[in-house]
Amino acid sequence: MVMYKSTRGGSEEVTASAAILQGLAPDGGLYVPTSVPKLPVSMRELSRMSYRDTAYAVLSLFLTDYTEDELRACIDAAYDDKFDTEEIAPLVQADGAYYLELFHGATIAFKDMALSILPHLMTTAAKKNGITDKIVILTATSGDTGKAALAGFADVPGTEIIVFYPKNGVSAVQERQMVTQKGGNVHVVGITGNFDDAQTGVKKMFGDDAMKSALAAKGYRFSSANSINIGRLVPQIVYYTYAYGKLLAEGHIQDGEKINITVPTGNFGNILAAYYAGKIGVPIAKLICASNTNKVLFDFFETGEYDRNREFVLTSSPSMDILVSSNLERLIYHIAGNDSKKTAALMAGLTSKGRYEITDEMKEGLAGFSAGYATEEETAEAIRTLYERTGYVIDTHTAVASYVYRRYVNHTHDFTRTVIASTASPFKFARSVLAAIDPELAKADDFALFDTLAKVANVKLPPAVTELLSAEIRHDTVCETAAMPAVVKQILGL
Ligand SMILES: *Cc1c(COP(=O)(O)O)cnc(C)c1O
Repeated sequence: MVMYKSTRGGSEEVTASAAILQGLAPDGGLYVPTSVPKLPVSMRELSRMSYRDTAYAVLSLFLTDYTEDELRACIDAAYDDKFDTEEIAPLVQADGAYYLELFHGATIAFKDMALSILPHLMTTAAKKNGITDKIVILTATSGDTGKAALAGFADVPGTEIIVFYPKNGVSAVQERQMVTQKGGNVHVVGITGNFDDAQTGVKKMFGDDAMKSALAAKGYRFSSANSINIGRLVPQIVYYTYAYGKLLAEGHIQDGEKINITVPTGNFGNILAAYYAGKIGVPIAKLICASNTNKVLFDFFETGEYDRNREFVLTSSPSMDILVSSNLERLIYHIAGNDSKKTAALMAGLTSKGRYEITDEMKEGLAGFSAGYATEEETAEAIRTLYERTGYVIDTHTAVASYVYRRYVNHTHDFTRTVIASTASPFKFARSVLAAIDPELAKADDFALFDTLAKVANVKLPPAVTELLSAEIRHDTVCETAAMPAVVKQILGL
């Protein structure tokens, strides 16, 4: 039985389903598995498995208190025709690398990979733990996570989801994606403040005991779909495992041959999943962590010092504009020799001074990582050169990884086969992508750019984009930040 405990040591061990219901551990730490088992199948067997079967092999290792029937039901409900390809996560070879396309789900970005299964893992967890309350997901979003959570939870029985977004702080496409969301249990609210205001407002409600008891009296309980939930982390291990099987099946690698993985990184969740893929036995040599101009992680890997005291820069890869990478805490815990005291002390430094420094011994635990970053110009250059060489069009986040990988190869001459996590469809960031290829192409409104991009990339418009253009607006509530709790009460009839 794999149990979960807090990186900060302050709470008892819990089952996987309890950890998924909780999200964050009560002491503010992140849940980590007490042991990491090995895959029960060989890489050769893996190479013959579908995405769903691979998902079962990986999920059953970590979520040991779920039955096979429960896990298979969650997997079947998640990885179905919400994805526009049978393969779920296709691998595309271009210019000497393998792009693992994680954007074929409902919102055309990689958060769909985990957020399409999390609601099912969560409602199953509630049943297993004898909880009959309806789960209310509260989320503040700067754009992408909100839509992926809405799509994941829409019409999932036993849940309601309320998403707050800054009314004037998201792109036109992002807003359209959210306000057209269908589902009897989805609620989308614009606030007159910025993203931080939305986030603070949500955190306050999570900590508001009076509100919690009012909720409980009506048979509701809050939960969060945040990226620190192990119910989001574990499903992300699946696609790296699947990608290895694919490379083997297609004869690009020998059985057992190690691969490198490059990940465009923000909150450190996606790359941490690749790290766990290595732990369960997927042959991985290097994990290459790619940052944009907000290169706090690059600096950390270079120096061993994490320092968030710096200017926050808005870039063309907004989902990586992050100064506190929450999931890094799990890696810190592991390289500290699973020492929760050390981890808690370092995290206390992050809270009080905005910085911490790891020991030389801990630095040795980072040997399997390499890190790099790309400036705005370099990101655009990566899109343009890949397009000119191959005709393949990547989004801005993937481009950061693509650039960092190129530079890594130039410096190291390490020609190990490499998978690059492709985290968003170029359609999601059409303006920046087209501007990188040719600024003339980007001179139109956001919605008009889709057709141009389809022509340039020689691909069909993804269904998620076509639907967006004709979808009916269903949500128009806007409130002041201070009124957020009142809006929640009104929605839930408290
Ligand atoms: C969230 C996101 C990332 C960053 O992933 P993390 O798991 O937070 O490191 C990268 N690219 C896109 C498109 C994203 O939406």
